Amino acid sequence: MAKRKTRRAGGDGTGRPCPCGSGPAYEECCGALHQGRTVAATAEALMRSRFSAYAVGDTGYLLRTWHSRTRPARLALDPAHRWTRLDILDTDRGGLFDTTGTVEFRAHYRQSGHPGELHERSRFGREDGQWRYLDAE
Ligand SMILES: [Zn+2]
Repeated sequence: MAKRKTRRAGGDGTGRPCPCGSGPAYEECCGALHQGRTVAATAEALMRSRFSAYAVGDTGYLLRTWHSRTRPARLALDPAHRWTRLDILDTDRGGLFDTTGTVEFRAHYRQSGHPGELHERSRFGREDGQWRYLDAE
């Protein structure tokens, strides 16, 4: 696969590491999902992209990837609540040929400067063939 050699962390955010922590730059990682250039192949990929959407404040993506059965009518993010790091602890199913899956994670955040973390097992299901967030176990 061809990779562009020059990447700089510009003021436009180009080249910044993805909030999900998987390594590649945001544009090549969860950014591609947020912008609709690709879709999540696994429940874990969807989980990572949703964490990143919380981190960058993409409420549209969060609502689009919420299962219609559990999706809230609207979503307001607290700007004082900054998501800083995601640790995937465990996954169960959620693969290419599965229709359901769970992802256990720990999400780190800062609330008005104070650190905290959220530990959750999220359930995912497919809708129209695509992975969607259902709820927490
Ligand atoms: Zn990512």
